[in-house]
Amino acid sequence: MKAMTITVKSKLPHVGTTIFTVMSRKAEQLGAINLSQGFPDFDAPLPLRELLAEHVAAGRNQYPPMAGVPALREQIAAKVARIYGADVSPELAVTVVPGATTAIFSAILALVGPGDEVITLDPSYDSYEPSITLAGARAIRVPLVPPAFGVDWQRVADSVSPRTRMIVINTPHNPTGAILSAEDMSALTALAERHNLIVLSDEVYEHLVYDGQRHESVLRYPALAARSLAVFSFGKTYHATGWKTGYCIGPPELTAEFRKVHQFNTFVAVAPIQYALADFMARHPEHYLTLDNFYQAKRDFFNRSVAESRFTLTPAPGTFFQLLDYSAIADVDDVTMCERLVTEHGVASIPLSVFCEHPPATRVLRFCFAKQESTLASAAERLCAI
Ligand code: PMP
Ligand code: GLN
Repeated sequence: MKAMTITVKSKLPHVGTTIFTVMSRKAEQLGAINLSQGFPDFDAPLPLRELLAEHVAAGRNQYPPMAGVPALREQIAAKVARIYGADVSPELAVTVVPGATTAIFSAILALVGPGDEVITLDPSYDSYEPSITLAGARAIRVPLVPPAFGVDWQRVADSVSPRTRMIVINTPHNPTGAILSAEDMSALTALAERHNLIVLSDEVYEHLVYDGQRHESVLRYPALAARSLAVFSFGKTYHATGWKTGYCIGPPELTAEFRKVHQFNTFVAVAPIQYALADFMARHPEHYLTLDNFYQAKRDFFNRSVAESRFTLTPAPGTFFQLLDYSAIADVDDVTMCERLVTEHGVASIPLSVFCEHPPATRVLRFCFAKQESTLASAAERLCAI
């Protein structure tokens, strides 16, 4: 029989396998220490894992409500009231999703379309642009300003056109570790109001803010919250990235449109995980309140351990990522340096340029410090030997 050839017109012709998959696979093949993909090498809290087992055993294994298990939505609404002073309806404003990635995808698909422009920052998390492209819209990238990677709001304003519908922000910011300030939020509010923009706010690292600074959620600012969808991930907060569960908060008008897509994209998030999280949030509210100290200790340990190396640190007030500048070590691009580091020195990292349309001139790699001290110490020893 003659072999059939299938012609495929790719919707994402420039997209390959994500850098996270590539680097984690490489670290495993080479037996390198994996500080590339962002996930902890320690487990979720035992009581949380036990709650999941209990709910599975108790038979909570059928479809939950489309917007999420009510007890979990109530816990989420109570939490954002407590920490951000936000008054959100669990019924109309909170949707539980199978991971922040699907929330970002559903939000973009629901709210922008062909001919629209969406402002994203450069660098930015890798899922934004493909989601915008699949929605038929166009991403307009506005460079962040190194070395601290702050937002130049004048430059953002200059990038707005009559076609701009949405701006995507991410604080704390992956991959740079930068955070937005209260002044940034004022500038964003003024811009969004002036041009009637929807704000998609990726806040998956909301609890990972250090040095006594506070997380500037859009939910703190009623005028901004009224035009925003804010996306969160339990994976980061409960050391369970593989559970792929998160939530999206927005005003009822935006949430209604969001749910229209969510219900056909995934319909629901996994039922027993939602019950387990609802119980755990009720019983251990201190977990997320102590996460900043927990991760700041790891950041400081890692940074102290590489202080004697030839890498230099850039400020990282948030996330579980640290950028290290290698310009004193080699005059090569970051993909080459990353490759060298994993093959010759046994440490896997992520090059900054993969998050960028216009990579900055700085020579930096991203390292994940969501690891046990022993892992960080071994990695630092190798980095100091270079
Ligand atoms: N946004 C950012 C900035 C992230 O770093 C991640 C992490 N993977 C996500 C979204 C996706 O989160 P989730 O695993 O819940 O889909
Ligand atoms: N957010 C994680 C990171 O930035 C990885 C997520 C993924 O593998 N898609 O490393």
